Amino acid sequence: MRAGRRADRRADVSATPKLLAGVELGGTKCVCIIGTGPDDVRAIERLPTVEREETLRQIDAVLERWGQQHGPALALGLGSFGPVDLREDSPTWGYITSTPKPGWRNTDVAQRLGRRAGIPVAFDTDVNGAALAEGRWGGARGLDDFAYVTVGTGIGVGSIVRGRSIFGLSHAELGHIRIVRKAGDTFAGVCPYHGDCLEGLASGPAIEARAGMPASQLPPDHPAWEFVVHALGQLLHTMVLTTAPRRIFLGGGVPSAQAHLFDRIRHELVRSLNQYVIAPELEQGLAQFIVPPTLGTMAGPLGALALAADAVARADLHKPSISTALR
Ligand code: ADP
Ligand code: ZN
Repeated sequence: MRAGRRADRRADVSATPKLLAGVELGGTKCVCIIGTGPDDVRAIERLPTVEREETLRQIDAVLERWGQQHGPALALGLGSFGPVDLREDSPTWGYITSTPKPGWRNTDVAQRLGRRAGIPVAFDTDVNGAALAEGRWGGARGLDDFAYVTVGTGIGVGSIVRGRSIFGLSHAELGHIRIVRKAGDTFAGVCPYHGDCLEGLASGPAIEARAGMPASQLPPDHPAWEFVVHALGQLLHTMVLTTAPRRIFLGGGVPSAQAHLFDRIRHELVRSLNQYVIAPELEQGLAQFIVPPTLGTMAGPLGALALAADAVARADLHKPSISTALR
């Protein structure tokens, strides 16, 4: 009898999965997702990132429609391009702040979307979200220290240290560190803030400016790749020596289309470290240390769900001020 009741309770719990909603806000597109994880994506919708009011209105509409179709989600996770304001005590918490993206500076994203959706919100950078998704569902399961790097229109890094993303003064922004230049590299760089920071030297637009043609058209033996490999090797050198990840996922439009980069970057890292750090990951385990994202192009959207799931588990969600669907 008692055993029967326990079985009934288990059945009840599995019949009400913890539905989560998410939005990955990217510089070129926004991806809305609803589900409980990679094996249970109820719907996914991609919208182009255009003028901010129009973009946010379209996201509102998708979330509203899903609320009617699927019922209220437990939380909304937002992984955004940045920089973003993550300070809980800040009046501009949830804003995209000093982005060079035209028209998007100082844009309230999380407060506004949370208010409209009427459910609690978790907000972080897109790369922190993608990293957390790899930790929850992908190739970093079982690891507490790892990182997700994206090289695309920009360069971003989500570093997970002891199971959590880095946050103090602000979120970390390893894409904009200054690095030692490869001998002979005189390219001025394209970062509007720093010129020849890492992103200024090795992002997709930087590669295009270096080569005078889109990165997609460069053959593997084009000399521009040598500078890119060197710059990304410097990034990984810094990461190994600071947050000490046990695995690094290398994603984004550039590496995902340029498979030759992986071995070149792995070897550049080893060359640069020059045997200062001794670890199997830097020797026989090198091919498993720097890897493509296990979740592939879903790392970003699933990252938004992972942000919501992590925040629900820790109950540190930002509650909307006008609640229509709180449970
Ligand atoms: P975003 O950074 O905008 O979110 P992606 O990560 O897909 O998007 O990166 C897009 C960038 O990737 C483009 O700006 C381009 O520079 C670069 N890219 C796209 N296709 C290729 C390719 N085949 N080879 C190398 N780089 C590419
Ligand atoms: Zn910069």
